[in-house]
Order: sequence, then structure tokens, then C-alpha cells
Amino acid sequence: MTPATTFAGQKLVLFGLAGSGLATVHALKAGGADVIAWDDSPESAERARGLGITVSDPREADWSGFSALVLSPGVPLTHPEPHWTVELAKAAGIPIIGDIEIFCRERAAVAPDAPFVAITGTNGKSTTTALIAHVLAQAGYDVQMGGNIGTAILLLEPPSRERIHVVELSTFQIDLTPSLKPSVGILLNLTPDHLDRHGTMEAYAAIKERVVASADLAIVGVDDAHCRAIAGRRTGPMVRVHVAGHGEAEAELIAREGRVTEGEGAVLADLDGIGSLRGAHNWQNAAVAAAAVRAFGVEGESLAAALKSFPGLAHRMEQVGRRGRVLFVNDSKATNADSTEKALTAFRDVHWIVGGKAKEGGIVGLAPLFDRVAHAYLIGASSAAFAQTLDGRVPFTLCETLDIATAKAAEAAAASEAAEPVVLLSPACASYDQFRNFEIRGDRFRELVKALG
Ligand code: ADP
Repeated sequence: MTPATTFAGQKLVLFGLAGSGLATVHALKAGGADVIAWDDSPESAERARGLGITVSDPREADWSGFSALVLSPGVPLTHPEPHWTVELAKAAGIPIIGDIEIFCRERAAVAPDAPFVAITGTNGKSTTTALIAHVLAQAGYDVQMGGNIGTAILLLEPPSRERIHVVELSTFQIDLTPSLKPSVGILLNLTPDHLDRHGTMEAYAAIKERVVASADLAIVGVDDAHCRAIAGRRTGPMVRVHVAGHGEAEAELIAREGRVTEGEGAVLADLDGIGSLRGAHNWQNAAVAAAAVRAFGVEGESLAAALKSFPGLAHRMEQVGRRGRVLFVNDSKATNADSTEKALTAFRDVHWIVGGKAKEGGIVGLAPLFDRVAHAYLIGASSAAFAQTLDGRVPFTLCETLDIATAKAAEAAAASEAAEPVVLLSPACASYDQFRNFEIRGDRFRELVKALG
């Protein structure tokens, strides 16, 4: 844990006791602060009380005594409208911060030179964060990984010169971190996302830009116009990363057909044959990761070996089994057509398990990739609509459940003449018509594949 010593002797109010909230209270208390916490959910409040936390309604408190409001990143700061705690904090004239801010202040106070790699972007954050952490750990560094992925930042070991913090940041977290100043700041890409919470694309991009603008070294994916504009405004040291074929951009690192080169020159990394880094989107992630670890002196053979041993993240084009020539891939995280597009682009001869609670537009936008699909196996509430989209273009079977679909797809793929048929769960849909979340859906698929023997 990282005790928050910069708040010693102060009184703070914290809202949001799910997720990272509990860790934040503990870190603040361990650092000598006094914290009053609250959550609208009675279960969360009760659980916190059971852990010895002071839980009381801030509407009844005197806000003149508080030095800051600590907000959970899930709570609206601006859109659709500011949460009531935000209004009270503004009226009291106190800063509104999150756990990343508490970490940044601690780092500035106890170890300002501590390596701190911050990763953001619309897509690929978790993969890139995990990949950077993996490569640095393989190279022998003491790595602490967390933030928006896995462990809450204040549960990690404290910042120090000998240790590298590799931290994924969501836009909500950045918005609550006024003194963000990472040693390496990474922005992968920007496409419209969560605009209900940020108002406009410009507001969303401006928040993300802070990761790059404040960093000692910036690494920016320049395959979209927003990121190119941000890179154009950057004045300090920067590495721009471009995936060939995704627009026109000037860049220091270029990923082309799975090879990452410096400009048109020396090969920095070769991703050919690395199953966990398949697809152009992963070339972007890997090229950005290569730029980041090079800042710590990791390149050449040690980079190549670490990339090869990257296991990938669960539920994201995760290879969960092989039976003879048939490869089984769990892409349950693909809850919309955009994500499924990445998976369909990465494979051929696909036995595609698709469906669930459909998003607007369904799978209509994937039509240009239908020639990669040998057969579709429809599950869940979207079945009738998807059958209509596929009709006459892709052979399909209505399977209703994942269990039936996996059995049928495995059988057909085994009988296929293709060199490497792929049974791909990439639903392009939310899971909650049949599963509580995408993780449970993916875990079930993994179990079913295991049971095939
Ligand atoms: P995030 O943490 O930003 O949600 P993940 O690494 O968990 O991203 O990947 C989620 C999904 O986003 C993947 O399954 C893939 O479909 C897509 N994706 C991953 N990396 C990229 C990228 N660099 N560009 C576009 N899409 C990506």
C-alpha cells in the first residue's frame, strides 16, 4: 500500500465506496488523514462500516473543515450533470480529486524521480499497460501495475526510484488528477466514447491530452486526426507511432505488417507469429509499448523474447485452446461491432459465435468482413436480427446458447478443410441477456473448450 502522507492531519470527504474507494480511505488513514466516507448504496456503506471506516452523510457535515473531496471516477463530475457532492465541494471552494491525484502528490513529495508510466486512449489501454508491465518485469525491473486495470493505484507499493509504476488511466481518472505529471505519458488513439459523460469530443480529447502534455516523454499514436493534432501541439520529447495503412502521418516509429521500424529503417520489433499480438490494433499497442520500454533501455533480444512470452489479456482475442488444426479464440470483451471487426480482420476461416444484447447497428457494419466467416453460430437475444443481416451472405445456425454454439462450431471446424480453422467467440454484443458480464461469458467459453478435450 502507498500511505498518503501528504494529507497528514487533514480532514477529507470521500464519495464512492465501491472499487478503489476503500483502498483510498485506507491509504489516507495510514498517512495520517481523517476521512468521512459515503456511498448512495447502503450495501457499500455497510461494508465500509464493517471495515472500521467512518461512514456518514456529507450533506449533514460542515464542509468548511474539509480540505478536499475525493471522488470515485464513476461519479459524474460534469455530465450529464455534476453529482451533488461536486456542487457541495464547489460551494465550499475545495479541490475535487481522485486516487491517482493522491498518488501523484505522494510521488512528488517522496520520490519525484520515480518512474511513472501513464497509459490512456480510447482503445487498447489494458493490453498496452499489461504488455509494458510484462516486458519491463521480464527485463528484471521491479514493476507495479494498476490504476484502471486490476489493482487500485494506492494498493500498489509506494513510488521509488528503483521501481516503475505502469498505470492505466481512464478519462474519468485523468479529470480528477490536476497535478498529473508522468515520466512517460502515452496516448494510443481517440474515437468518440463516453460522450454522455464528457459533453463533446473536444472536451473528451482535451482531458486525454493532459497525459501527453504533462509528461517528460510523450508517446502518441498518430493514426487519428485528434491524436495528430495533440502531437502537433506537444513541445517536449515525443515519439510518434504510426500503423501503416491507417491514414497519412509523420512518425518516429512505424508498424507495418507486424514489423515495428524506426522510420523506414532498423527493425525494433517483429510481431510475426506472436499469437497474443495479432491484428493491426495490436501492432499499435506493441509499437507504443516498444517505444515506452526503450526509454528504460529495453530493446533488442530482451524485447523480442519478452514480446514472444506475452500471454495477452483474458477475453481479448485470447487463444484458449487448440484441437488438431482448429484454434479456439475467446474475444468475449468484444461487446460491439467495432471490437469484433478487429478479431475478424485478424483471422480467416472463422466459425463465428456471435450474439447477445445487440448494440445499435448490430453487425451490419461488419459486412465487408463476412468473406472471412465460414459459418456463424447465433446466440442470445440478437439472433433474429443477426439472422436477417447474414441471410444470403453467410451460412448460419441458430444455436440459442453458447454451449450449443461451441459444440456445433467445434464439430464443423474439425471437419473443415482449411489449414487453420478458427472457432471465434466475438459476440459484438453485450452479454447481459444471458451472462452477468463479458468475463463470465468468456470463462464459460473457456470451460466449454477445455471440456472438448
Ligand atoms: P481498453 O482497456 O482501452 O478497453 P483493451 O486493451 O482492453 O482496451 O482492448 C479492448 C478491445 O479494444 C480489444 O478487444 C480490441 O477489440 C480493441 N482494441 C485493442 N487495442 C486497440 C487499438 N490499439 N486500437 C483500436 N482498438 C483496439
